[in-house]
Amino acid sequence: MDNVSQKKRSEIMRAVRSRDTGPEMLLRRSLHQKGYRYRTHVSSLPGTPDTVFPARKKVIFVHGCFWHGHEGCTRSKTPKGNSTFWKKKILENRKRDKKNCVVLKKMGWEVITVWQCQMKNRGDCTADVIAFLGR
Ligand SMILES: [Zn+2]
Repeated sequence: MDNVSQKKRSEIMRAVRSRDTGPEMLLRRSLHQKGYRYRTHVSSLPGTPDTVFPARKKVIFVHGCFWHGHEGCTRSKTPKGNSTFWKKKILENRKRDKKNCVVLKKMGWEVITVWQCQMKNRGDCTADVIAFLGR
């Protein structure tokens, strides 16, 4: 079993998760300013996508590199100690992401995933997203 107490673990999780909410907001604000209208956290769709454009049938996922296991990314390194727990958790997330994406596409949605680090490194990466959304 693991040696991190339940309390400690939820503290860690909370800290990581709150860091992940920033980029998503940044992207949305930027799109809103450009006149795009969307719905957020649409629970009727697989994976409860962050940002949904119903008329265009397009979906944006903003993924935190850590939680969603961004391959080859420095931000996705698992914390020292109790790494089995994190690895399992992140693997589950990745599997779920992949499955959600497949189901959405089958339903006729187009899907783009924006990684947290991409936003950090290249401004808010709105250009890519706009190319995806179309005018
Ligand atoms: Zn990354």
